[in-house]
Amino acid sequence: MDKKYYIETYGCQMNAHDSEKIAGILSRLGYSPSADEFDADLVLLNTCSVREKAAHKIFTRLGQLKKLKTGKPGMAIGVCGCLAQQEKELFFKGRPYVDMVFGPKNVSDLPSLLEQMENGRKQLLALSGPRQEPTFEVDTVLRNAPFKAYITIMEGCDKFCTFCVVPFLRGREISRDPHSILEEARRCAEEGFVEICLLGQNVNSYRYDHFDFADLLISLHEIPGIRRLRYTSPHPSDINPKVMDLYGSLPKLCNNLHLPLQAGSNEVLKRMKRDYSREDYLAKVEYLRQRCPDIALSSDIIVGFPGETREDFARTMDIVRQVEYSGIFSFKYSQRPFTTALKMEDDVPEEEKSDRLAELQQSQREIQLRLNKRMIGASQEVLVESHSRKGDAMLSGRTGCNRVVNFQGSDDLLGKFVQVQITDAGPNSLQGHICSL
Ligand code: SAM
Ligand code: SF4
Repeated sequence: MDKKYYIETYGCQMNAHDSEKIAGILSRLGYSPSADEFDADLVLLNTCSVREKAAHKIFTRLGQLKKLKTGKPGMAIGVCGCLAQQEKELFFKGRPYVDMVFGPKNVSDLPSLLEQMENGRKQLLALSGPRQEPTFEVDTVLRNAPFKAYITIMEGCDKFCTFCVVPFLRGREISRDPHSILEEARRCAEEGFVEICLLGQNVNSYRYDHFDFADLLISLHEIPGIRRLRYTSPHPSDINPKVMDLYGSLPKLCNNLHLPLQAGSNEVLKRMKRDYSREDYLAKVEYLRQRCPDIALSSDIIVGFPGETREDFARTMDIVRQVEYSGIFSFKYSQRPFTTALKMEDDVPEEEKSDRLAELQQSQREIQLRLNKRMIGASQEVLVESHSRKGDAMLSGRTGCNRVVNFQGSDDLLGKFVQVQITDAGPNSLQGHICSL
């Protein structure tokens, strides 16, 4: 009988891509995907531990799966990703229904874990040390988006920002051999993928011998068939002129950049160990905007970091207004295990954190609406990616600057580039009509 799997993914794009690799491995082993957990023989939770809330969700979800398994004893449950690496064998404690736990660098151990499970072994554990080389190459990747391919170029992080658990769970920074990256990109282009998004916790510290991140972008740019190049996330202190000069000179490099600010006060940045000041950050923004005036910048921002005063927060708001981000991910600070900030007093009251977050998000919505409205009347090249959530016969795609555009069109346009005239704008998306194919 055909076995079915269901993967639930939490957290960042790296996790989403790990799930694509897991799905590829399972399909090679003869499993087929299931739309939900009820019909699945194997349920995997690919977890995140970056914020406390994300970690809590997993434990609640496991409680629900436990109930399901009571009526379906043949079902296997696995936990992978960052929380798996954090909790290790503790995941099994009091949870006899969890069959396997494997870390983010152990995705390629899955076939062996499944084989051992079929041979009757229980509660299997596969974890990696911080310096262990991950298996970058996975034979089959079952990609979620048919036109956009995510490619891992590095694993881990050496920055040790004081709030962040990632270096403790994904280990030290290890860059992937460029030959293998270029080979995967060429294969994707041959299969019809037109957009490549490079992934890593700190992509611009990528280095393999003397080959650096800018060299990698230049080499990828030469691959025929690839029309768009993106990457996430760079670190503001590592983005150098060699990379910034590529904006406006490499036509396939999309004019959007995620440049996580985290905080706008120098005191807070220092306590976060971010290695840049607000002045350094703003100087880089100015440099980028000189090279590429229409570049769309996005960011990650934390409010309520230990010791953050109202004045510190006002400095964050000041940068948000100055830079005018096209989008942000914003978070209330939460304490994470192993991190240095854990030793600092989490002294901003929860209610105050919520107020700051609401204020930030309200301003950001206004900025986005203003920026998006400025695009009305412009003609934008859009990659048609999916059917729109807005309704029948509506398609959805993204501009080079990563804005979502909804417009009317037929299914045969999926995966193609079209010119769309922008006719209306909200804070989160644009509306338009096709003006040429
Ligand atoms: N490597 C990226 C960088 O340097 O910005 C980000 C990686 S992290 C997975 C994604 C985001 O989660 C961070 O940029 C930060 O804003 C947020 N984050 C990480 N730890 C956090 C914490 N303890 N509390 C709140 N937000 C946190
Ligand atoms: Fe975490 Fe900082 Fe590394 Fe980003 S750069 S993954 S925030 S430690």
